[in-house]
Amino acid sequence: MKTQFAVIGLGRFGGSVCRELYQLGHEVLAIDTNESKVNEFTTHATHTVIANATDEKALTSLGIRNFDHVVVAIGDNIQSSVLCTLLLKELGVPNVWVKAQNDYHHRVLEKIGADRIVHPEQDMGIRIAQHLSSEKIIDYIELSDEYSIVELVATSKVADQTLADLDIRATYGATVLAIKSGEHMNVSPLPTDIIRLNDILIVIGHNNDLNRFEREGL
Ligand code: ADP
Repeated sequence: MKTQFAVIGLGRFGGSVCRELYQLGHEVLAIDTNESKVNEFTTHATHTVIANATDEKALTSLGIRNFDHVVVAIGDNIQSSVLCTLLLKELGVPNVWVKAQNDYHHRVLEKIGADRIVHPEQDMGIRIAQHLSSEKIIDYIELSDEYSIVELVATSKVADQTLADLDIRATYGATVLAIKSGEHMNVSPLPTDIIRLNDILIVIGHNNDLNRFEREGL
């Protein structure tokens, strides 16, 4: 059976989530109070509906309880976002992901049972700062407070050497998961594989180890 998604609030964030899910081939119900927003999404969602997601009757009549995954992307109105999340959890939606505005909003969402709370602006800000702070960092995924995956550009310091020569795991405690060379992605690199200048190394490890590798190893 296909996963059923619903996206509530079609602003920049909710709109992007909706478009992308639909493009990935999922069934998506797009909901917003704003008629013109809803009209914009008729070609970017399976179904669109004008509804107020803080209205329990409206949510029930949409059969929202049958959706596996609901994304609450109501922008500035924290009260509506909280009320909507509460209703969705009470109606038994198994996965409710919510965009939080600030730390207080986050804490309330946590208390009422939101399954995942996201801070897209802050997360993107961190990624961009990481990228700006070092030309070697292409991208960055935070796995936990301590562990991350980073994409690093191979400099002349490591170019034309094998993974065995560099022994990154022993020296830095970080593991090279994959090497991207132009369009070619090597997802199970061998110790004998040679790194070329400007290859992208996808490396997992403790943030301290990754920092040390990026500063000293590259
Ligand atoms: P972003 O910061 O992601 O651009 P916006 O604040 O621009 O977010 O968009 C939030 C969207 O949520 C708007 O399109 C707004 O009409 C919609 N919205 C706000 N309250 C409700 C509600 N109670 N039910 C459904 N949609 C809502």
